[in-house]
Amino acid sequence: MDETQAKKIIMRLRGGFNVNFNPLNEVHVQKEYLLAIQSLDYDIMNEVITRLIRADSDKVPSISCLLQEYHKGNQKRMQPVETDCKYCNGKGFMLITKIIDDFPYEYIAYCDRCEAGEQYKYDGRKCRDKRYQTNYVINPISMYFDPDYIFTTGGEVK
Ligand SMILES: [Zn+2]
Repeated sequence: MDETQAKKIIMRLRGGFNVNFNPLNEVHVQKEYLLAIQSLDYDIMNEVITRLIRADSDKVPSISCLLQEYHKGNQKRMQPVETDCKYCNGKGFMLITKIIDDFPYEYIAYCDRCEAGEQYKYDGRKCRDKRYQTNYVINPISMYFDPDYIFTTGGEVK
C-alpha cells in the first residue's frame, strides 16, 4: 500500500473502535503500526479492519493481531482450500442462523469435519497479546448441531 492508504488504515484504527484510550492517538505508536503495515496489501488489510471492527469494536487490535489476521486473509486469497466435504460443500464453513429477539443473526461456524475448515478457525481469546484479546470466536459446526444428524435428516438447525 502507499502512504495515503496506510494513513487511511491508521484513521480506521483510530475511528472504528470505542475505547477510552486509543493507543493510536500517540504518534510513536502510530509509527509502529505504519511500519508494520506499509509493505502489506491495502485491500486485504482494509478487509481485516472491517472484520475486526464488526467482531469486537471495544478493543483496538494489536500489531500482532493485525498481522495474524492479515496472514489468514492473504492465505485465503492465495490458495483457498476446498475439499469434497459433504457437510460444508467443501467451503470450510457454514452460516448458522439464530433468532434473537425476533431478529435473525447469522453466525459463521467452521467445518470441523474437513481440512477446509481450518482456515476459518478463530479464537480471539487466544490472541498472544493479552491486552487485546477479544471474545470473538468462530466455533466448529459440531458445537451447534450434530453434522451427521443434519446431513441424514435434512433437519433444521436450531
Ligand atoms: Zn467441511
